[in-house]
Amino acid sequence: MWLQSKASIRASFCKNLHAKCFLNESEALITSMNLYEFSQVNNEEMGVVVSKETDPTLYAAVYEEAMRLIRVSDEIRVTVEKVAKKETPPTDRVPTRSRSKVSAPQKGVCIRCNAEIAANPSRPYCNDCYRIWQQYENTDYKEKHCHICGVANESTLNKPTCYTCYRKYKTVFSFPSAS
Ligand SMILES: [Zn+2]
Ligand SMILES: [Zn+2]
Repeated sequence: MWLQSKASIRASFCKNLHAKCFLNESEALITSMNLYEFSQVNNEEMGVVVSKETDPTLYAAVYEEAMRLIRVSDEIRVTVEKVAKKETPPTDRVPTRSRSKVSAPQKGVCIRCNAEIAANPSRPYCNDCYRIWQQYENTDYKEKHCHICGVANESTLNKPTCYTCYRKYKTVFSFPSAS
């Protein structure tokens, strides 16, 4: 899939999402049409284009709503996996040990209240704490626990884990600050 080869693409899943909006830095397109040929050829569709330059308020509102949808969605991690060519090791040599692969932990804790939640460095708060955090939206507010191992740590939304966990899991999770 070509999508998987693009490191800059992030896929998220949002239950019951039916909105279609295409956004760039200068324009927003809201339309009933799905961006694939079937719709273009077979369906009656309508859409509106909002220009940031001529209608900044509306553009900002559309942008905000799109960002909100991304925030409430679950990111789907797309991994690029190369199929390695299998080499037959020479019979007189002991095959080298393959490097052990770190697997992503399923469970983590809320960096504020230590409640058990799904491990996801992009969402390190439990629902209750997130709602409270949202009133201030301070991404550098220092909390009390590492999101993954739970140790006492000045975690923030930007850096939700202790350094050890960051080092250990940076290849299996996407971390907010490591853009
Ligand atoms: Zn919490
Ligand atoms: Zn940790």
